Amino acid sequence: MKDILDTGVKNVRNVQTYSIGDGVINDFPEIINAHRSNDRKIIFFVDEFFQTSKDLLTKLSLQKTDQIIYVSTKDEPSTDYIDDLVSKITSDKGNNPSALVGVGGGITLDVTKAVSNLLTNGGYAADYQGWDLVKKKGIYKIAIPTLSGTGAEATRTCVLLNKESNLKLGMNSDFTVFDQILMDPGMTKTVPVDQYFYTGMDAYIHCIESLNGTYRNAIGDAFSRQTIELCREVFQSENTMSDENRAKLMAASYFGGCAIGMGYVGVVHPFSAGLSVVLGIHHCIANCITMRAMEEFYPNEYNEFWEIVNNQGVYIPERVCSNLSDDQYEKLYLSTIIHEKPLFNALGENYYNLLNKDKVINLFKMM
Ligand code: ZN
Repeated sequence: MKDILDTGVKNVRNVQTYSIGDGVINDFPEIINAHRSNDRKIIFFVDEFFQTSKDLLTKLSLQKTDQIIYVSTKDEPSTDYIDDLVSKITSDKGNNPSALVGVGGGITLDVTKAVSNLLTNGGYAADYQGWDLVKKKGIYKIAIPTLSGTGAEATRTCVLLNKESNLKLGMNSDFTVFDQILMDPGMTKTVPVDQYFYTGMDAYIHCIESLNGTYRNAIGDAFSRQTIELCREVFQSENTMSDENRAKLMAASYFGGCAIGMGYVGVVHPFSAGLSVVLGIHHCIANCITMRAMEEFYPNEYNEFWEIVNNQGVYIPERVCSNLSDDQYEKLYLSTIIHEKPLFNALGENYYNLLNKDKVINLFKMM
């Protein structure tokens, strides 16, 4: 029988070209100009946070023919949202855009990746949720991250909520990987400090899950260890958002994305996905809430995580699952246990018995 974790992630594709450093955003006009064409436009997906930022638009040196689509980050992207965006773009008639640019955090970058795949492959977003279902190369795409941690700039997936199937799953494919990324730490200067922590610790959590799993390899482990080390340096220091620390966290995010691109997460992400699907809680803060119930699975990391939270005075919501309906608890259970790959990676083939319904609901009640 084919191993449940044998989904091809051993043969890894990374981002083709990338640069990191203060001011690399200034190289953007030259890079994008090489992808301009007379009869095709360029579409910019920009986090709505920057809707009033004239400074950003100047840096991107937009031209008349370019189109900006502001991406709402109120809710995490759903397959319906992507289908809607794609139909608006294609109903424009004319040719496909010549390039897509994603400027934002994980949500905006994942939207850029999903739209790129759908514009050339056709069909609906839900058709490609899974492993290696995308058949053709997407539209050329560039990422300019403005948040660090999710690793969306580096990974071969774009996570989408499917509201019909209650499933949170990405398009895992080599074609999902960005062609170019520009990592400029100057772009994360204005991130609110709690958000900076929630998102940054996504990288840490990816890597503690990966290192504690059974599906491992030496390169993935090396990426993971380095990611955790960088997160420690950033979040154990006094000024977590200094210029130096923002550059470090950007590197940690990229390394964390590379690590997870060749392995699997563990127990935290399936529970976190349950919180997102059923209660609409955003991914990174949902991870932090999930950490309240993770002592038995990751005791050392649990202690380290909460020590950092206390030292930094970060607010993590609590008792978010204490008074839910039976129907909601049932949904939380189902949307967690459906993540068989990471749970198998963390707990082995007996995961289904270890995490029976009562157990899962009790863990949610600890959050
Ligand atoms: Zn994550």
